Amino acid sequence: MTKKERYKKVIDWFEKNMSIVSTELNYNTDFQLLVAVILSAQCTDKRVNLITPELFKSFPNAEKMSHANVEEIYNLIKSCTYPNAKAKHISEMAKIVHEKYNGKISSDTEELQKLPGVGRKTANVIAVVLFRQAKMPVDTHVFRVSKRIGLADKKSTILQTELELEKNIPPEIIPDAHHWLILHGRYVCVARNPKCAECGIKEFCRYVETIM
Ligand code: SF4
Repeated sequence: MTKKERYKKVIDWFEKNMSIVSTELNYNTDFQLLVAVILSAQCTDKRVNLITPELFKSFPNAEKMSHANVEEIYNLIKSCTYPNAKAKHISEMAKIVHEKYNGKISSDTEELQKLPGVGRKTANVIAVVLFRQAKMPVDTHVFRVSKRIGLADKKSTILQTELELEKNIPPEIIPDAHHWLILHGRYVCVARNPKCAECGIKEFCRYVETIM
Protein backbone atom coordinates (compact mmCIF):
# COMPACT_ATOMS: atom_id res chain seq x y z
CA MET A 1 0.00 0.00 0.00
CA THR A 2 1.38 3.43 -0.90
CA LYS A 3 1.57 6.13 1.73
CA LYS A 4 -1.04 8.14 -0.19
CA GLU A 5 -3.47 5.21 -0.14
CA ARG A 6 -2.84 4.61 3.55
CA TYR A 7 -3.57 8.24 4.39
CA LYS A 8 -6.79 8.15 2.39
CA LYS A 9 -8.08 4.97 4.02
CA VAL A 10 -7.17 6.11 7.53
CA ILE A 11 -8.74 9.56 7.08
CA ASP A 12 -11.91 8.03 5.58
CA TRP A 13 -12.20 5.62 8.52
CA PHE A 14 -11.79 8.33 11.14
CA GLU A 15 -14.22 10.65 9.35
CA LYS A 16 -16.86 7.93 9.38
CA ASN A 17 -16.25 6.63 12.87
CA MET A 18 -14.98 9.55 14.96
CA SER A 19 -16.37 12.65 13.28
CA ILE A 20 -17.16 14.93 16.24
CA VAL A 21 -14.12 15.38 18.42
CA SER A 22 -12.56 18.04 20.58
CA THR A 23 -10.04 18.45 23.36
CA GLU A 24 -10.79 16.58 26.59
CA LEU A 25 -9.48 19.53 28.62
CA ASN A 26 -12.19 21.61 30.36
CA TYR A 27 -12.11 25.40 29.90
CA ASN A 28 -14.43 28.38 29.45
CA THR A 29 -12.19 30.98 27.83
CA ASP A 30 -9.17 31.13 25.50
CA PHE A 31 -6.95 32.12 28.43
CA GLN A 32 -8.15 29.16 30.49
CA LEU A 33 -7.39 26.78 27.63
CA LEU A 34 -3.84 28.10 27.45
CA VAL A 35 -3.41 27.54 31.20
CA ALA A 36 -4.85 24.02 30.90
CA VAL A 37 -2.56 23.14 28.00
CA ILE A 38 0.51 24.38 29.91
CA LEU A 39 -0.57 22.22 32.86
CA SER A 40 -1.09 19.20 30.60
CA ALA A 41 2.58 18.94 29.57
CA GLN A 42 3.78 15.52 30.81
CA CYS A 43 0.50 15.19 32.72
CA THR A 44 -2.87 13.62 31.94
CA ASP A 45 -5.92 15.64 30.88
CA LYS A 46 -7.84 13.85 33.64
CA ARG A 47 -5.49 15.21 36.29
CA VAL A 48 -5.59 18.71 34.77
CA ASN A 49 -9.40 18.65 34.80
CA LEU A 50 -9.31 17.89 38.52
CA ILE A 51 -7.03 20.88 39.15
CA THR A 52 -8.52 23.62 36.99
CA PRO A 53 -11.98 24.12 38.62
CA GLU A 54 -10.43 25.52 41.82
CA LEU A 55 -7.66 27.32 39.96
CA PHE A 56 -10.10 29.07 37.60
CA LYS A 57 -12.48 29.84 40.45
CA SER A 58 -9.70 31.76 42.20
CA PHE A 59 -8.07 33.23 39.07
CA PRO A 60 -10.50 33.11 36.12
CA ASN A 61 -8.67 35.43 33.72
CA ALA A 62 -5.25 36.84 32.84
CA GLU A 63 -5.74 39.95 34.96
CA LYS A 64 -6.66 38.02 38.13
CA MET A 65 -3.94 35.41 37.52
CA SER A 66 -1.35 38.16 36.95
CA HIS A 67 -2.05 39.48 40.46
CA ALA A 68 -1.63 36.05 42.08
CA ASN A 69 1.77 35.19 43.46
CA VAL A 70 3.60 32.08 42.33
CA GLU A 71 3.05 30.34 45.67
CA GLU A 72 -0.73 30.77 45.46
CA ILE A 73 -0.73 29.22 41.99
CA TYR A 74 1.64 26.46 43.12
CA ASN A 75 -0.69 25.50 46.00
CA LEU A 76 -3.57 25.03 43.57
CA ILE A 77 -1.64 23.02 40.97
CA LYS A 78 0.76 21.02 43.14
CA SER A 79 -0.86 17.67 42.28
CA CYS A 80 0.23 17.93 38.64
CA THR A 81 3.69 17.21 37.26
CA TYR A 82 6.42 19.89 37.55
CA PRO A 83 4.29 22.24 39.68
CA ASN A 84 7.16 24.63 40.52
CA ALA A 85 8.05 25.35 36.90
CA LYS A 86 4.43 25.43 35.76
CA ALA A 87 3.37 27.85 38.54
CA LYS A 88 6.20 30.19 37.56
CA HIS A 89 5.39 29.96 33.85
CA ILE A 90 1.65 30.50 34.36
CA SER A 91 2.30 33.53 36.57
CA GLU A 92 4.71 35.12 34.06
CA MET A 93 2.51 34.20 31.09
CA ALA A 94 -0.57 35.78 32.73
CA LYS A 95 1.31 39.04 33.37
CA ILE A 96 2.38 39.28 29.71
CA VAL A 97 -1.07 38.33 28.34
CA HIS A 98 -2.71 40.90 30.62
CA GLU A 99 -0.24 43.74 30.07
CA LYS A 100 0.86 43.23 26.45
CA TYR A 101 -2.17 41.55 24.86
CA ASN A 102 -4.97 43.01 26.96
CA GLY A 103 -6.04 39.54 28.10
CA LYS A 104 -6.38 38.13 24.56
CA ILE A 105 -4.69 34.98 23.29
CA SER A 106 -2.88 35.45 19.98
CA SER A 107 -3.62 33.19 17.01
CA ASP A 108 -0.01 33.54 15.80
CA THR A 109 2.02 30.48 16.84
CA GLU A 110 5.33 32.40 16.65
CA GLU A 111 3.90 35.05 18.96
CA LEU A 112 2.50 32.39 21.32
CA GLN A 113 5.90 30.72 21.62
CA LYS A 114 7.32 33.92 23.12
CA LEU A 115 5.17 33.29 26.22
CA PRO A 116 6.72 31.47 29.21
CA GLY A 117 5.80 27.78 29.26
CA VAL A 118 4.61 27.79 25.65
CA GLY A 119 6.60 25.63 23.24
CA ARG A 120 5.85 24.60 19.68
CA LYS A 121 3.38 21.85 20.64
CA THR A 122 1.41 24.06 23.06
CA ALA A 123 1.24 26.89 20.50
CA ASN A 124 -0.02 24.42 17.88
CA VAL A 125 -2.71 23.10 20.25
CA ILE A 126 -4.00 26.65 20.75
CA ALA A 127 -3.91 27.30 16.99
CA VAL A 128 -5.87 24.10 16.30
CA VAL A 129 -8.42 24.18 19.11
CA LEU A 130 -9.20 27.90 19.23
CA PHE A 131 -8.57 28.94 15.64
CA ARG A 132 -8.84 25.70 13.59
CA GLN A 133 -5.54 26.38 11.88
CA ALA A 134 -3.82 23.64 9.87
CA LYS A 135 -1.23 22.91 12.56
CA MET A 136 -0.46 19.46 13.92
CA PRO A 137 0.63 19.37 17.56
CA VAL A 138 2.63 16.18 18.04
CA ASP A 139 2.30 14.81 21.55
CA THR A 140 3.30 11.36 22.72
CA HIS A 141 0.10 9.77 21.31
CA VAL A 142 0.26 11.44 17.90
CA PHE A 143 3.96 10.56 17.63
CA ARG A 144 3.49 6.87 18.50
CA VAL A 145 0.26 6.30 16.54
CA SER A 146 1.46 8.05 13.35
CA LYS A 147 4.54 5.88 13.24
CA ARG A 148 2.71 2.65 14.00
CA ILE A 149 0.02 3.22 11.38
CA GLY A 150 2.62 4.28 8.82
CA LEU A 151 1.59 7.93 8.44
CA ALA A 152 5.12 8.91 9.46
CA ASP A 153 8.40 7.13 8.84
CA LYS A 154 9.63 4.91 11.66
CA LYS A 155 12.71 7.05 12.23
CA SER A 156 11.00 10.46 12.01
CA THR A 157 11.65 12.99 14.75
CA ILE A 158 8.77 14.88 16.38
CA LEU A 159 9.26 17.80 14.01
CA GLN A 160 9.49 15.55 10.93
CA THR A 161 6.30 13.78 12.03
CA GLU A 162 4.52 17.12 12.41
CA LEU A 163 5.60 18.28 8.94
CA GLU A 164 4.78 14.94 7.34
CA LEU A 165 1.25 14.89 8.77
CA GLU A 166 0.68 18.53 7.76
CA LYS A 167 1.86 17.76 4.22
CA ASN A 168 -0.34 14.70 3.71
CA ILE A 169 -3.59 15.56 5.49
CA PRO A 170 -5.93 18.10 3.81
CA PRO A 171 -5.59 21.41 5.75
CA GLU A 172 -9.29 21.66 6.63
CA ILE A 173 -9.16 18.21 8.25
CA ILE A 174 -5.96 18.67 10.28
CA PRO A 175 -7.67 20.04 13.44
CA ASP A 176 -9.93 16.97 13.56
CA ALA A 177 -7.08 14.61 12.65
CA HIS A 178 -5.13 15.92 15.64
CA HIS A 179 -7.94 14.84 17.98
CA TRP A 180 -8.49 11.53 16.14
CA LEU A 181 -4.89 10.49 16.59
CA ILE A 182 -4.79 11.53 20.26
CA LEU A 183 -8.00 9.70 21.14
CA HIS A 184 -6.98 6.64 19.15
CA GLY A 185 -3.66 6.58 21.00
CA ARG A 186 -5.28 7.13 24.37
CA TYR A 187 -7.93 4.41 24.12
CA VAL A 188 -7.02 1.90 21.37
CA CYS A 189 -3.46 2.20 20.08
CA VAL A 190 -2.10 2.44 23.63
CA ALA A 191 1.64 2.49 24.30
CA ARG A 192 1.93 -1.03 25.69
CA ASN A 193 -0.09 -3.79 24.03
CA PRO A 194 -2.09 -1.85 21.40
CA LYS A 195 -5.59 -3.28 21.01
CA CYS A 196 -5.13 -4.32 17.37
CA ALA A 197 -7.83 -7.02 17.42
CA GLU A 198 -10.54 -4.43 18.11
CA CYS A 199 -8.97 -1.60 16.07
CA GLY A 200 -11.00 -0.32 13.11
CA ILE A 201 -7.94 0.58 11.05
CA LYS A 202 -6.02 -2.67 11.41
CA GLU A 203 -6.46 -3.40 7.69
CA PHE A 204 -4.50 -0.27 6.76
CA CYS A 205 -1.95 -0.30 9.59
CA ARG A 206 1.76 -0.78 8.91
CA TYR A 207 2.36 -2.21 12.39
CA VAL A 208 -0.08 -5.04 11.73
CA GLU A 209 1.57 -5.75 8.34
CA THR A 210 4.92 -6.17 10.08
CA ILE A 211 3.69 -8.63 12.75
CA MET A 212 1.58 -10.82 10.41
S1 SF4 B 1 -3.92 -1.91 14.35
FE1 SF4 B 1 -2.86 -1.86 16.29
S2 SF4 B 1 -0.97 -0.72 15.93
FE2 SF4 B 1 -2.37 -0.30 14.23
S3 SF4 B 1 -3.45 1.56 14.82
FE3 SF4 B 1 -4.70 -0.15 15.47
S4 SF4 B 1 -4.12 -0.53 17.58
FE4 SF4 B 1 -2.50 0.73 16.65
